[in-house]
Amino acid sequence: MSDGQPTPDSPAPAPPRRVLVVEDDPDQADLIRESLKLDGCEVDLVHTAADCLAQDLTAFQAILLDYNLPDALGLSILPRILEATRVPVIMVTGEDASEVAVAAVQAGASDYIVKAGDYLRTLPLVVDKNIEAMRIKLENERLSKELEKRVEELHLHTKRLEALSITDYLTGLYNHRYAHERLESELNRARRQDEPLAVIMIDLDRFKGINDTYGHLAGDQVLREIGRILKDTCRNYDVAARYGGEEFLVMLPGTKLDDAVMIARRIRELIEACDFQAGGKTLRVTASFGVTEYSHDQTRAKDELVGHADRALYRAKAAGRNRVVAWDGKEGITR
Ligand code: GH3
Ligand code: MG
Ligand code: MG
Ligand code: MG
Repeated sequence: MSDGQPTPDSPAPAPPRRVLVVEDDPDQADLIRESLKLDGCEVDLVHTAADCLAQDLTAFQAILLDYNLPDALGLSILPRILEATRVPVIMVTGEDASEVAVAAVQAGASDYIVKAGDYLRTLPLVVDKNIEAMRIKLENERLSKELEKRVEELHLHTKRLEALSITDYLTGLYNHRYAHERLESELNRARRQDEPLAVIMIDLDRFKGINDTYGHLAGDQVLREIGRILKDTCRNYDVAARYGGEEFLVMLPGTKLDDAVMIARRIRELIEACDFQAGGKTLRVTASFGVTEYSHDQTRAKDELVGHADRALYRAKAAGRNRVVAWDGKEGITR
């Protein structure tokens, strides 16, 4: 294996460390460069503030910035360097310059080195430490952005799944399971706030005949169109669901029986008048309706409410179909 790729036995090679040294004193500059080269760094050397700013600063992993330069103070170009790139800038100061060091760190320098004693021995360590710290910082930022993005994606995905899990695939209305959940909560709310709640159960008339005559796909097309009629008729706080094959349930919160009957009548008329288009043919369909309202003394559970709507619907079928019957507590009365 000599293609330079890391293998399980050999660790990945350390990324190249390219350091820009901004130092006007030629002797100091040479010493610093040699010390960094011994540590394995690539070193670029410039002698003035202007030359420093003329570089592509994004190419470096660290910048050593002399405090005193012939054309400017190192401190004064620090903001421009930091504007250009996220690179650790290490201020290099003379002895007795602690205020300079403090000012540099306050202005955004990552660290400082005092040109005193055997500072050339510690210099590569300081450079390495700052390069590594910046690498970790940037990696952390990248990871938290990535995490944020993933969390957002997951959130969207969950919302999509939630929507799918309560939607009837054919009509886009709510499905049977959701209808029961929602009926439970609407019933609880009606009870708690002493508000009316009406329910309409709808069953298409002789729908088997539609399928038998025009085919199942035509039947599906009619069901889709019924879904659209219900969506168009419902106010945004009403809830329309596909309750079964060709059965639909509409919940009308805050609505009394008489108003619910009027709404049912309107839907009945819309269905009766609709020219359903299916397989290049125009067909007509009717539906029967059972309407009921929640009442304190009669409705103990949602199943009872559905049961009453169902019995009224049964009466509508028995009375000849294509009509609205309201539950009157006993038999159901035709409207
Ligand atoms: P009634 O007036 O008494 O309600 O008569 P009906 O024919 O509508 O009643 P029945 O319950 O006998 O038949 C319901 C029909 O609805 C039978 C079934 O093929 C059809 N159906 C149920 N679900 C779907 C569906 O998803 N697509 C289609 N095309 N037809 C469906
Ligand atoms: Mg200098
Ligand atoms: Mg049916
Ligand atoms: Mg039917």
